[in-house]
Amino acid sequence: MNKKAVALLSGGLDSTLAVKVLLDQGVEIVALNFTSTFCTCSCRGSVCSNEAARVANEFGIPIKVLKKGLDYIEVIRNPKYGYGQGMNPCVDCRIYMHRLAKNYMGEIGASFVITGEVLGQRPMSQRKDAFKSIEKESGLDGLIVRPLCAKHLDPTIPEKAGIIDREKLLDMVGRSRKPQISLAEECDIQNYPCPSGGCLLTDKIFSKRVKDLLDNKKDVTTEDLQILKIGRHFRLNNETKIVIGRDEAENKRLGNLVQPGDTLLEPLDFAGPTAMICGPVKNGTHSLAGRMILRYAGEKADGKRFLKLSQNGEATIFEVDSPVDDKVLKGMMI
Ligand code: SF4
Repeated sequence: MNKKAVALLSGGLDSTLAVKVLLDQGVEIVALNFTSTFCTCSCRGSVCSNEAARVANEFGIPIKVLKKGLDYIEVIRNPKYGYGQGMNPCVDCRIYMHRLAKNYMGEIGASFVITGEVLGQRPMSQRKDAFKSIEKESGLDGLIVRPLCAKHLDPTIPEKAGIIDREKLLDMVGRSRKPQISLAEECDIQNYPCPSGGCLLTDKIFSKRVKDLLDNKKDVTTEDLQILKIGRHFRLNNETKIVIGRDEAENKRLGNLVQPGDTLLEPLDFAGPTAMICGPVKNGTHSLAGRMILRYAGEKADGKRFLKLSQNGEATIFEVDSPVDDKVLKGMMI
């Protein structure tokens, strides 16, 4: 066993402090940062990764950024340890990340993993039994060092081997962040913008969309996931849903996320939202989507209106004459 470790670094305060505590013990650390479609911090321009990169840079340690792939969808679809308040499979998610950390550890010849977890801080994944499951299922038994709360946990292998001085590890516990903040002050650590992380899977409304997608589609694509984050969503049947843009940026984004077989409808002679029909269309689907556009275009789209319909590279024009009723919309809204 050597004195080299992989640290899971989000760029938040806890993981930053965990790295600092072990850097002070002379551990050679390589940071590992995860991004995903569901991370509110990384969805635009990898801000969270930039935070992690900034921290790594300040500490003068290398950093590797990994994106959670489509295999992560299967973790969300069927988590062994269940969900939190939304579709967040926190324990399984941590297992997923630690498995990848273990692989990376092997790649770079490191001997253990460091995380910023604090016992009792999060009700689902930061409990002793969850810590044990994460270690066991990721194949990292005794090899995950949690410097911020280590005194409440059994000694890890690096501690037993004398690579890490257990006496210099900490005894933080619970949800209060005061100990972290005072340690940050002590260590002159500033600018920690993402202390509690931002995961869309914990959001109940967003989770409804995720559940709807997973319930109705087996092979989920990256575009399917991106679409979850924009527009208003309406489920027609188990193959087809309609998404309506809420502003110009979303209308444009929908246009960029069209997949083979999807249909895009755009107003021709009035200002209004774009609609995307995801999945096959039946009789009346185009007209319904068009009438939804009129509904959300508001008063400015009264009367007969023309729409452009694009599918598989071909465009046609068609006419709709009245907005859809709100009651109909309500029954379909996801
Ligand atoms: S909050 Fe989200 S990213 Fe964090 S462990 Fe849970 S599922 Fe994973």
